[in-house]
Amino acid sequence: MTFYKKPLLIHQGYMQWLWDFEGQRYLDLFAGIVTVSVGHCHPRVTVAAQKQLSRLWHTTSIYMHPPIHEYAEKLMELLPDPLKVLFLANSGSEANDLAAMLARVYTGSFDIVTFRGGYHGVSPYTMGLTAISNWKQSMANGFGCHPTMCPDVFRGPWGGSHCRDSPVQTIRTCNCCPGSCDAKDKYILQLKDVLSTCVPKQIAGFIAEPIQGVNGTVQYPKGFLKEAYQLIREKGGVCIADEVQTGFGRTGSHYWGFQTHDVIPDIVTMAKGIGNGFPMAAVVTTPEIAKSLTQAHHFNTFGGNPVACAVGSAVLDVIKDDGLQKNCENIGTYFLVELGKLRDEFESIGDVRGKGLMIGVEMVKDKTSRDPLPQEEIKQIWEDCKDMGVLLGAGGIYSQTFRIKPPMCITKEDVDFAVAVFHIALQRHEE
Ligand code: PMP
Repeated sequence: MTFYKKPLLIHQGYMQWLWDFEGQRYLDLFAGIVTVSVGHCHPRVTVAAQKQLSRLWHTTSIYMHPPIHEYAEKLMELLPDPLKVLFLANSGSEANDLAAMLARVYTGSFDIVTFRGGYHGVSPYTMGLTAISNWKQSMANGFGCHPTMCPDVFRGPWGGSHCRDSPVQTIRTCNCCPGSCDAKDKYILQLKDVLSTCVPKQIAGFIAEPIQGVNGTVQYPKGFLKEAYQLIREKGGVCIADEVQTGFGRTGSHYWGFQTHDVIPDIVTMAKGIGNGFPMAAVVTTPEIAKSLTQAHHFNTFGGNPVACAVGSAVLDVIKDDGLQKNCENIGTYFLVELGKLRDEFESIGDVRGKGLMIGVEMVKDKTSRDPLPQEEIKQIWEDCKDMGVLLGAGGIYSQTFRIKPPMCITKEDVDFAVAVFHIALQRHEE
């Protein structure tokens, strides 16, 4: 969703900052849609790219080269057993296409279970997995179909964030009742209901983001994803974790979002932050599942590109050496607390939620109705923040949730600045 009245022409970036042509500086709280993980033009990543650019650009995967080996070794150290086989691609959509194909050739089944509100890409296949209606309804996506009209996808229990009886309230309940939760039981029943319509052993897979990103930072009830994995596996399906937004330490407490749910997926997909803005993506799976690919053709010209691998290695080094996962935990927690104070002060903030530096601020008409704040008003708040030097993202079915997913290097001072700016914009809005 693009909000600006006139296009914002960005001229330069450094770490968490962007500059336009007129020299105005912006704190980038959306990181090129959760993609600039370690910082714009991070010096170590830039040097790694430059070195590789002057050595070798491209071979395709028919020839191996040192950067791909180095990358595979480093990444595999970060994943639990039995996730030991790596495929490289260029975008999140491509990675999820491959994950779905792997699930299908491995199981010999076709159906993939996905959650309402999930976003998995816009290639013709992943559009079938993405379950946000405003993405489906665009004719430009080649399908123009409504979620319920996708025959190959069973819809899971997760409501869109416009459903007043689901995520916002659910999240509140779940945050304050660790261990037991009515919402979890309700959603498990709905999932069981969906699964009961499938012939046993007919499910190829199940795909879920550990935290829904595009849908406005929507979290599941505690224990829900773990139980969902068990149910899917009982039906013969494999579990795919879409870590395109949640991976590489962004959730703070863990390197991968799936670890926050105490599950080990059969397939993990990664993109965005993996390359800090350089086109790169990956699929990791088990040797057993990977072997099944001999039954299908798969090829990717640019996947495993030497420059992408050199960049990817440098990103992994920087996350480790600069302590960025820990920074996500510390700064993310501080950010949530400060935004919580704004929620208590302003009627138009319905909810503040998230984990690490993956934060959602849901804007509502009022706290009683929880109806989404009209688009024009959200745009005005966005514009105001932009004019004061803070760039926010937006998500949710009505783009009613501000998304805060900055480069993982932001500081406490940046948070104070952002919250002060947001405070002014909200005051003006409620005047
Ligand atoms: N999965 C998730 C969770 C995403 O957020 C996105 C992109 N917003 C994708 C997949 C698709 O990635 P890409 O745009 O690189 O194809």
